[in-house]
Amino acid sequence: MTASLTAAPAIVRTIAELRMQIKDYRRQAGEHASVGLVPTMGYLHEGHASLLRRSAADNGLTVLSIFVNPLQFGPNEDFDRYPRDEARDLAVAADAGADIVFMPSVGEMYPRPAATRVTVSGVSERLCGASRPGHFDGVGVVVTKLFNIVQPDKAYFGMKDAQQVAVIERMAGDLNQPVDIVPCPIVREADGLALSSRNVYLSETERSEALVLSATLARVPEWIAADATAERLKAAVTAGIAASPLADIDYVDVLTFPDMQPPQADLKLSDSRERLLVAVAVRFGRTRLIDNILIPAAEA
Ligand code: AMP
Repeated sequence: MTASLTAAPAIVRTIAELRMQIKDYRRQAGEHASVGLVPTMGYLHEGHASLLRRSAADNGLTVLSIFVNPLQFGPNEDFDRYPRDEARDLAVAADAGADIVFMPSVGEMYPRPAATRVTVSGVSERLCGASRPGHFDGVGVVVTKLFNIVQPDKAYFGMKDAQQVAVIERMAGDLNQPVDIVPCPIVREADGLALSSRNVYLSETERSEALVLSATLARVPEWIAADATAERLKAAVTAGIAASPLADIDYVDVLTFPDMQPPQADLKLSDSRERLLVAVAVRFGRTRLIDNILIPAAEA
């Protein structure tokens, strides 16, 4: 299918229409059919575009979903003010090679309140799972619904949300969901700030202070090489971030990846046989940002 190179993506708002278009594609492409899914909440940036480009390179049909999923937001979170810009999203989607943009309403996705939850215990319990109760259950539901609706061969997720990758890989494995989960590297601004739709909330001062996150995480390999344990590494990262007067730390943690468990307390992290995730969540004003580094880095 060459649509991604030439035509604007098809805009689809209903599940029935999406299923029909994917069925048509599969019928035409026959045994070579391959469908990639990139689930997002919109307000697209270069991070999302990198996922789309990867999917377009791997698959004959790339479906981008844009859905701000109420189920994964807590009562005092930013569901109502989450940024939205359909026209700009469509331009980014076209440029990055999406073939179909699925933009359902809340009523289309949840014609009645979902009584089902998908809970991935263990991996979802720390970090954002602890500070955003119910968040990953909501992610589990919406991603499972999207997998069932689209039935993709591959689905693309950013390591910006490393715990989400761990949760979804575990969910897909546990439930035999017939899809390959493809983790993609974090895309950053030239000055190091991890791209996020929420960056638009930041004032100029908050944005420049937020650089402390990537700058501090960049020093993690050096601290590990100097024989840090998890506690000492956490202390070093916390002190690095606390150097910014505006930083209000939600969590700083060091966990094994993808199991998301604390490493042995007395282990020199340089001796770890498991991969390590150093993850932070920090508020600057009203904006909560997350960032992380994986050691050793994930393969791109
Ligand atoms: P969101 O719209 O924030 O739910 O993100 C949709 C997908 O894009 C998720 O898989 C995110 O991990 C991924 N993503 C968001 N920001 C970035 C980034 N800076 N680099 C790579 N992937 C990202």
